[in-house]
Amino acid sequence: MNGADALRRLPAVDALLGEAQARALCAQYGRSATLAALRDSLQQARNELRAGDGPEPTRKSLLERAAAQLARRFLPGLRPVINASGVILHTNLGRAPLAPAAIQAMAEVGGRYSTLEYDLERGARGSRLKHCEDVLCELTGAEAALVVNNNAAALVLLLATLAQGREVIISRGQLIEIGGGFRVPEVMAGAGARLVEVGTTNRTRRSDYERAIGPDTALLMRAHASNFRMSGFTAEVPLDELAQLARERGLLLVDDLGSGALLDTDAFGLLHEPTVMESLAAGADLVAFSGDKLAGGPQAGIIVGRAEPLAALKRHPLARALRADKLCLAGLSATLDLWLRGQALTQIPIWRMIAREAQELRSVAETWSQRLGGEVLAGESAVGGGSLPGATLPTWTLALEVAQPDALLAQLRAAQPPVIARIAGGRVLLDPRTVLPDEEQDLLAALEQALRS
Ligand SMILES: *Cc1c(COP(=O)(O)O)cnc(C)c1O
Repeated sequence: MNGADALRRLPAVDALLGEAQARALCAQYGRSATLAALRDSLQQARNELRAGDGPEPTRKSLLERAAAQLARRFLPGLRPVINASGVILHTNLGRAPLAPAAIQAMAEVGGRYSTLEYDLERGARGSRLKHCEDVLCELTGAEAALVVNNNAAALVLLLATLAQGREVIISRGQLIEIGGGFRVPEVMAGAGARLVEVGTTNRTRRSDYERAIGPDTALLMRAHASNFRMSGFTAEVPLDELAQLARERGLLLVDDLGSGALLDTDAFGLLHEPTVMESLAAGADLVAFSGDKLAGGPQAGIIVGRAEPLAALKRHPLARALRADKLCLAGLSATLDLWLRGQALTQIPIWRMIAREAQELRSVAETWSQRLGGEVLAGESAVGGGSLPGATLPTWTLALEVAQPDALLAQLRAAQPPVIARIAGGRVLLDPRTVLPDEEQDLLAALEQALRS
């Protein structure tokens, strides 16, 4: 083949643009992006011809290359992945996948006008705060509730409203970092509250709190150590004792629960995670937790507790800045309805995952292994996401022995949809627990392709 002739025979970009496929690309991606992709495709062809590699490009191959580039270019950066890591609340993978009812509520409210701040009975302005408040109160027994953007925002609002320029007493064992640089002492400083640390890292007694209380004390705070666990020579003051002390001294007690369990986790062979109801029953005035950890809903910060301090929070100017949007409120109230109706374990994906029996997971892993080879191994899934520190559930994984496990992981990440797996003991492990039923075929196809190449 004569390279110079082939170069001359390359079509002009305008000629390519006249092709039916190019017109379809223009309709799909816009004219300017399509034009840029066609120019790139032609340039690549020129480079290849000059280098003397490959056959002479056809119009079809030039258009196909442009189409592939456009498809890549317009692939959303934020898009679904298949989580085969076995980490249920995977912070980097978006924590809790939503229940179908929550997705439906978000789609309905998002695509139309809604009653976000409209009172249908009175035909006048209503409050967005109502939508989740009633169900939260019914569910937890709290007097009042407030939903904001996330639990970090809940804590900022809480501290700015109730403790600005004043002191907050917290045990040294609870000065936690949640991840992503979110640290309790820094949140306090940001909200203008003065942190008073009491006790030691491993032991804090009631008398430590008593001694620290002074005229500037606004509240006592407990932060649940949600992503680590202390063991050995440790002591914390139980929440009900802290509540008693707060009451005696006319202070408020705030409990940052983090994960926000709404049921007893012991039933699943997990460690006991303090529930929102237990915190309220123990006497916490306000309890803060995330909407997208163990509650299994959209990203949100939920504060439940006594009406009087919550009313102050709702009035604070920051409440406006930190408020939840309509999609969050729609998704969260649909999720909370599932809790209220007793359908959480069957309808909320993370709870279905937590509740899946090891035997069932074993048979899933075995069907995978029949198609792909590999070995079915007993392993552990993690609840993750700053919930139930150290809590794992027995599972069965498909273990693939390959020469380059890192390369296989990278290939799986490049699949469409991407698959996230992990490596242990030099093997690539796939845990069925976190793979949604409708993702299995895509997962197997991605694996088959990756193992072939
Ligand atoms: C996760 C967590 C937070 C932060 O919650 P976000 O919803 O991620 O903002 C705060 N406190 C505790 C104890 C947590 O576990």
